[in-house]
Amino acid sequence: MGSKGLLIVISGPSGTGKGTVCRKLLKECKDLHLSVSVTTRQPRPGEIDGKSYFFVDKEKFMEMKERNQFLEYAEVYGNYYGTPKEYVLNMLNSGRDVLLEIDIQGALQVKETFRDGVFIFVVPPSMEELKNRIIKRGSETQETFKTRFNSAFNELEYCVQYNYVVINDSVVKACEKIKAIITAERCKVRRNMDLFAALRGGMQKT
Ligand code: ADP
Ligand code: 5GP
Repeated sequence: MGSKGLLIVISGPSGTGKGTVCRKLLKECKDLHLSVSVTTRQPRPGEIDGKSYFFVDKEKFMEMKERNQFLEYAEVYGNYYGTPKEYVLNMLNSGRDVLLEIDIQGALQVKETFRDGVFIFVVPPSMEELKNRIIKRGSETQETFKTRFNSAFNELEYCVQYNYVVINDSVVKACEKIKAIITAERCKVRRNMDLFAALRGGMQKT
């Protein structure tokens, strides 16, 4: 396990600010690599294909699913989202740390196969603020807003499945906390067994 990269999974209710926090994190941590998901959702203004998501139609998504190309996938708010398996496995096997920003259903699937992953749940400082953030983003109709906001209440119950909770009161503070979590996880003894072997093997006792 020591030479493998860390798999960091971030989830939380829609509008909490996961995307915003992850973008800052990726800017500041050059050794962290985002897994770009595949989705059947329509791009929002400013979203770039291949960077924000790989935007595909339902037929293509189902074809990828049939070919077992997803590490996990889920239907979220009427659209499909999936994590490309090959990219994540290649990165982890070459010792690089990978960040997944996925929903709870997906995170639970990943947890089944990657018990060693780091599961972080990001929450808003209050439900009132969550409401404001979803509205501020301006990406939802009244109907989709309702679905996302109401789902948030159920989603909060899943926080016990995660290893860490981070309140996104300020993007800077949330980002610092996630960086601290990553640092601590990298320092875990069980993740550094190669280091001990190298230290012991490097010199004879005097
Ligand atoms: P998510 O990815 O969780 O759905 P976004 O990153 O799209 O959420 O953020 C939703 C909205 O909230 C955006 O308009 C974003 O600018 C804003 N936002 C994110 N984090 C904060 C914060 N800490 N304080 C205030 N606004 C925030
Ligand atoms: P949005 O449409 O706001 O970009 O994302 C909606 C939800 O889908 C968010 O909770 C986001 O974390 C989740 N999501 C994004 N990519 C994936 C993915 O690859 N798999 C799963 N399961 N969820 C995803």
